[in-house]
Amino acid sequence: MAWDFETDAEYQVLLDWTADFVEKKVAPLDMVLGSAMQYQDPDFIRLVRPLQQEVKDMGLWACHLGPDLGGLGFGQLKLALLNEILGQSRFASVVFGCQAPDTGNAEILAHYGSDEIKAKYLQPLLNGELASSYSMSEPHAGGPEEFKCSAVRDGDEWVINGEKWFSSNARFASFLIVMVVTDPEASAHGRASMIVVPTDTPGVEIIRNVGVGDEPPGHGTHAYVRYTDVRVPKQNLLGPRGQGFAVAQTRLGGGRVHHAMRTVGQIKRAFDMMCQRALSRTTKGEMLADKQMVQEKIADSWIEMEAFRLLVLRTAWRIDQFNDYVKVRKDIAAIKAMMPKVYHDVVSRCIQVHGALGVSNELPLSGMLLSSYVMGIADGKVLCDGEVVFESPSSWPSAPAASSISARGGP
Ligand SMILES: Cc1cc2nc3c(=O)[nH]c(=O)nc-3n(C[C@H](O)[C@H](O)[C@H](O)COP(=O)(O)OP(=O)(O)OC[C@H]3O[C@@H](n4cnc5c(N)ncnc54)[C@H](O)[C@@H]3O)c2cc1C
Repeated sequence: MAWDFETDAEYQVLLDWTADFVEKKVAPLDMVLGSAMQYQDPDFIRLVRPLQQEVKDMGLWACHLGPDLGGLGFGQLKLALLNEILGQSRFASVVFGCQAPDTGNAEILAHYGSDEIKAKYLQPLLNGELASSYSMSEPHAGGPEEFKCSAVRDGDEWVINGEKWFSSNARFASFLIVMVVTDPEASAHGRASMIVVPTDTPGVEIIRNVGVGDEPPGHGTHAYVRYTDVRVPKQNLLGPRGQGFAVAQTRLGGGRVHHAMRTVGQIKRAFDMMCQRALSRTTKGEMLADKQMVQEKIADSWIEMEAFRLLVLRTAWRIDQFNDYVKVRKDIAAIKAMMPKVYHDVVSRCIQVHGALGVSNELPLSGMLLSSYVMGIADGKVLCDGEVVFESPSSWPSAPAASSISARGGP
């Protein structure tokens, strides 16, 4: 019976090293550098590259990758424990070579890229030498059946026309993976394909870089991109024509779990701050930690955080067991749906316990609150994940049969 919650002593040594390294050397970067994706920026080269080398020397570089791509093949459970630590700093994923969206894009290239595409982009991407962008969402279309950006074959080339929205990091990227409609008459999930577009191809235009929250105009990293008669070779298509959504699952399944793993780290950060505040602030003759309503906030937060963490770890464990994202689709949808709520609620309580300091720009809490909303939107909106979780309630072992529902609740 293999069912326990212990971490191997050997692996714990690596986790302890990572926690110390992130706290002392990586987290300070969050305060002094801008976007973590500016790989060619002189400050990035000076401050981040040496830390990346330390991670490589420890053998922890890009450990989300399997051995076929030069990684350690840790599997998702070990990765979850590591990502909890990396989630506590904005720069940590980049320093450890496992940052979104490059991780998911690398997975797609590894599975579906032509030899030429792999040679040009895959290895440099895995080495952290170049950045990439994923260009799927559209400004004028919600669901895939409404996507308009299209690619039409002309001889040995595809010609792309249309607009994309919130293509993160396009401004720093060497290439974009673009979802294009190639078969408009096909069914909703058979009409689109994925294609690689080098960012410097004529006709690729960033209309503006959209920011989130109160980022000043022009400083955002989510590009509104227009493609006008953009020509790329036919070999740039990734996977079979019309299978863009199946190809997308290669990255979205793993990507969502990794977001959840890192969010556990963010929630833990807010929880620790709340405890530190409660133990260090005195009001009306006693510490905040002695007040019952503050204790309740801390207790509720711990319970929600641990429940979320265990669901994430269990999902990671199930991915390792089945080695098939489709079989854990509901688990992944469940953690995606739970993530913004727990993150939001813990950060809100943390803000409250910090008083004015909590809403000030001297703590990261207002940004974290906004991030909790981002977690419910980016990589697919939460309501749709709720649909996946409950798509077939009758197949759930504990679900009552339809006849018993009508017997109990019917007129
Ligand atoms: C920080 C950030 C980074 C992102 N990065 C990328 C990126 O790199 N590449 C990329 O392609 N996209 C990216 N996105 C876009 C993201 O994938 C989309 O925002 C997301 O899929 C939601 O689509 P939408 O914004 O068009 O919302 P809409 O489809 O307009 O939905 C808006 C709201 O309508 C409601 N709704 C929608 N559908 C349903 C439904 N079926 N049932 C009930 N209610 C529903 C929900 O409340 C939903 O939140 C990013 C978004 C954010 C916030």
